[in-house]
Amino acid sequence: MSLFPGEHLDVLITQDQIRLKVQQLGVKIRADYGEKEIILVAVLKGSYLFVADLARELGLNVKIEFCQVSSYNEGKSSTGVVQIRKDLDINIEGRDVLIIEDIVDTGLTLKFLKEMFEVRRPSSVKVCTLLSKPEARTHDSLVDYVGFEIPNEFVVGYGLDYGERFRTLPYIAILRDSS
Ligand code: 5GP
Repeated sequence: MSLFPGEHLDVLITQDQIRLKVQQLGVKIRADYGEKEIILVAVLKGSYLFVADLARELGLNVKIEFCQVSSYNEGKSSTGVVQIRKDLDINIEGRDVLIIEDIVDTGLTLKFLKEMFEVRRPSSVKVCTLLSKPEARTHDSLVDYVGFEIPNEFVVGYGLDYGERFRTLPYIAILRDSS
């Protein structure tokens, strides 16, 4: 693991805790949707591991789509402006869409995405996020499924990066920088 001088990682959520939570979320979501097909819309890149694991818990009746937005650039804080970088490849009219997020921080990204998808007249749009930082929320956006509520700290691992580093860590850690 390459850490720069002054950086260190404090484990916040272990690999086992993530595994258990993803299983529990899968059971709950499947119970809510029954046998209906769910269009999982993963928000790149941070949710790529989460959606891979969650989709396998949900069984066969899912489709996986990707979109990408930018609000963070390379740094640790949001720019406050959300831009779409990659839109969906399918028409979601009449479909049940479940947006899969890695983390909801201010809620700005989610608000933007929900509004963008809702005008396309899907049958439903719900949101599942692995992590949520309730203290950082400035935009009220309804999240339907939350894995873990975490403190207002910058976290990396299990898909989440800092300047493209740390995505492959199997756990979630707080990235601290004392330099
Ligand atoms: P929001 O629009 O809710 O403020 O921010 C959502 C996006 O910001 C997330 O999808 C994620 O890409 C990024 N983000 C927010 N907090 C963190 C964090 O603690 N760590 C990392 N790596 N990304 C974060």
